[in-house]
Amino acid sequence: MSIYKNIKGFVPTSLVDWDGKVSAIIFVGGCNFRCKFCSNEEIVIKPENVNPIDWKKMRECLEKNKEFIDGVVISGGEPTLYDDLENLCKEIKEMGFLVKLDTNGTNPDLVEKLIKKDLIDYVAMDIKTKFEKYKEITNSEIDIERLKRTIEIVKNFGNYEFRITLYPKITKEDLLEIAKYLKEIGANKAFFLQQFKNEKCLDKEAEKIKPYSKQEVEKMFNSVKNFFEKSGLRNV
Ligand code: SF4
Repeated sequence: MSIYKNIKGFVPTSLVDWDGKVSAIIFVGGCNFRCKFCSNEEIVIKPENVNPIDWKKMRECLEKNKEFIDGVVISGGEPTLYDDLENLCKEIKEMGFLVKLDTNGTNPDLVEKLIKKDLIDYVAMDIKTKFEKYKEITNSEIDIERLKRTIEIVKNFGNYEFRITLYPKITKEDLLEIAKYLKEIGANKAFFLQQFKNEKCLDKEAEKIKPYSKQEVEKMFNSVKNFFEKSGLRNV
């Protein structure tokens, strides 16, 4: 399946999806995870029920906004499910935009290829939880070694951030373990925590879970922020 037929959402302008940049966002359908807290149910579970957006129209819109848009964020769903992500990145780069990739880290080979070919400028990788809990939180069979490889690849690339959604099944100890791991391997350039919202969750049980309070989030953040060169809170 081609990524071009699986673009399910488009935001022409955003000030919050790429730090310091004005960006447009492309959302692709489909994902190989089933994170309990995922709020993109419609494009993750049954992307075929969501009408695709015509890439040509998006191109026209990007051209029109060229003067004030710095880059395009390719998000999802999981964009690395599609081999022709490479072509999409290439087209966007040829239009003169920077490209940011949002990924869950399960396709290290494709991420590496895009970096080697200079087709992406920034990677935001979600870390769902500590490795031992991945299966429980993502409801999926995971090859942890692939995630570790992607972490290593983006670390060596240098233009990256790791993000964690503070789903309350992730404890302060779990967070500390993740932060320590990233620091130990030198992947500690940028790290962001984002608040979990118990609305429209993929797992309806997750909607019954109360998010951490602002104070709890700040406490958790303070326990790990010094592990990283740059860190921050989002949507808190
Ligand atoms: S939150 Fe999980 S299931 Fe949802 S799009 Fe991201 S990786 Fe996929």
